[in-house]
Amino acid sequence: MDLRNQLFIGGSWRPSSSGETFTTINPADRETLATVARAREQDVDVAVAAARAALSDPRWSQIGPPERGRVLNRIAGLLRERKEELARIESLDCGKPLNQARNDIEVSARYFEFYSGVADKLYGKTIPLAGQYLNYTLLEPIGVTAHITPWNFPLQIACRGIAPALAAGNTVVHKPAEQTPLTALLLGEISLEAGLPAGVLNVVTGFGNDAGARLTSHPHVNHITFTGSVETGRLVMKAAAENIVPVTLELGGKSPNIVLADAEFPSALKGVSTAVFANAGQICSAGTRLVVDSKLHKDFVQQLQKHARSLRIGPGLENPDLGPLISEEQHQRVQEYIKIGKQEGARLLTGGKVPDDPRLRQGLFMEPTLFDEVTPQMRIAQEEIFGPVLAILTFRDLEEALEIANGVSYGLVAGIWTRDIKKAHWLAARLQAGQVFINEYFAGGVETPFGGYKKSGFGREKGLEALVHYTQVKNVCVNIDLQADLETQQGKPQTQSGVTL
Ligand code: ADP
Repeated sequence: MDLRNQLFIGGSWRPSSSGETFTTINPADRETLATVARAREQDVDVAVAAARAALSDPRWSQIGPPERGRVLNRIAGLLRERKEELARIESLDCGKPLNQARNDIEVSARYFEFYSGVADKLYGKTIPLAGQYLNYTLLEPIGVTAHITPWNFPLQIACRGIAPALAAGNTVVHKPAEQTPLTALLLGEISLEAGLPAGVLNVVTGFGNDAGARLTSHPHVNHITFTGSVETGRLVMKAAAENIVPVTLELGGKSPNIVLADAEFPSALKGVSTAVFANAGQICSAGTRLVVDSKLHKDFVQQLQKHARSLRIGPGLENPDLGPLISEEQHQRVQEYIKIGKQEGARLLTGGKVPDDPRLRQGLFMEPTLFDEVTPQMRIAQEEIFGPVLAILTFRDLEEALEIANGVSYGLVAGIWTRDIKKAHWLAARLQAGQVFINEYFAGGVETPFGGYKKSGFGREKGLEALVHYTQVKNVCVNIDLQADLETQQGKPQTQSGVTL
């Protein structure tokens, strides 16, 4: 693929300092897709220095909130103009069906559009105090923000953090996942065309253990936004702790879809299937556990099985229902979990293997897989698989449904399917999850706060909530007591005020 194989630093393209490159593959056929520059520690240092310099560059610091918003809006426009090209690249790079990739680009544009409108609305407030004071707060950018992103939604997740960071006046260093770096580089190109000043957005392509690790431990980085695995999230937090730098972590999930006996059957069926098979199950918020009322279990599972068998598998560009998995490692991992599920005594209903179709043999495909008779303590009910594998569990009453749903170490999202409004809200109030969907799954767009309970992470992305992470509050307190000045001038004794800490 003819793409830039350079790093985007300080508004220009440059090779990595060592001249090293690495290649990415098309997971649909395991063929080499592109060659990109490999950033090492010293390239990250150059990128952070560029971002730091851009912070005080008047072209950014003095641009004024309305113009900052306009630049972001132009980025949104250019993303839309180049939607088809970007979607095809995204589909080739990470394997996802073309229509899902098109949606990714639209959502990426929406992030820039949404936060462009926020740039000139980051108001502080005045706080009334006892006595003669004027007290107000200012929302200031936090500084250089680092963004480390995964391979499952390469551009969407990048834009989810970068757009609010820029709207608040920060400067950014982005390290995309090594498996899917291509659209991030194009975002760099687009940002320049949109008029974002040099150095405000920098993109370093490289691996986690050197470029990523350097970025998270760099003393001039002021905030880290990380989306990825729990294991890596832990390392990121440790590195951030050294510099006392705040982090926003969006980690894994094992999200439940709770289907009550009175659920609207076809919608629930469709919702449960989309929740686990979209992006071949490679979504942090995928609904990978079906928790279904035992009264409905037989019929529901029968229909689900029929549906899973009808799904089309193929290369992303052919717009199938399921594309390939991202990597050899992920392909192996999913097969390993299928083996574990069988050993644990779960009943494999459908799927569970690499498709027989000779046309797909070169790619990293997996069949949509359903495991029935899963019990809550099985590993396939507890651990994140990150593939098209659904664990089916049953319950007899609401208390049991809740106990199963909450009985994992994750808490990202949860789905509820019922016509009973009381039961729906009873569950919604008690589920340990950052987002709850009722008669819906994956709903809500860029506007709704998103983030985890428990080991799914902390901090909220999306919506106005995300801005908390990209701003810092400065409180300014002014003594406006003219009378006190007068009395001091006249030599009258003043009472010493106490200290509140
Ligand atoms: P996965 O195992 O699914 O690839 P990771 O959490 O390891 O997920 O990767 C998510 C992102 O974190 C990628 O951009 C990756 O390069 C980066 N990464 C991996 N290891 C580290 C690390 N030690 N420090 C910082 N970033 C890392």
